[in-house]
Amino acid sequence: MALKDIKQQVLKCEDCNLHKDKIEYVFGEGNEKAEIVFVGEAPGANEDKQGRPLVGRAGGILDDLLCSINLERGDIYICNILKCRPSGNRNPSTNEINACTKYLSAQIDTIKPKIICCLGNFATTFIMKKYGLKSKLDGISKLHGKVFKVGGVFNNVKIIPFYHPAVATYNPDMINVLKKDIKVLEEKK
Ligand code: URA
Repeated sequence: MALKDIKQQVLKCEDCNLHKDKIEYVFGEGNEKAEIVFVGEAPGANEDKQGRPLVGRAGGILDDLLCSINLERGDIYICNILKCRPSGNRNPSTNEINACTKYLSAQIDTIKPKIICCLGNFATTFIMKKYGLKSKLDGISKLHGKVFKVGGVFNNVKIIPFYHPAVATYNPDMINVLKKDIKVLEEKK
């Protein structure tokens, strides 16, 4: 399905309660032919206002990380597990994830990226399950920076879990881990 058609579905979605309190749906954006897709968690306050993914502090950190390996937003596509903001930035619930991830799945199936970068535990869990890697699942502290190759019916995609960039907003030392991990993309481009 074309991304614009998936977006039309998202913009009228009422499949969980989050649509009631949101300001904007945050569909995702970027290069629709990108080889690299980043999957975040859910919109925060800034994203909710602007209708764009990762435009707050965590997004600024992601921009810096991309820049450090000569990539920019125009090179990639960014989307989230949830398309609406959970109030108070709480974690997505299982119900919300189950209701919403059909859209993320459709986005990825349309873009057919070569590399999927998962930001944080929620994105990592969903994407690894989607690609048959459930048995390899572990906490993000174990998985970050590792490359999981999936072949066959999945058309050779690499799944790379990362810490969510927001981690560096409450633990500044983590920026070094993020910077080291993102370098894996330099080799995989
Ligand atoms: N965190 C995310 O994972 N995604 C956003 O869009 C904003 C913050």
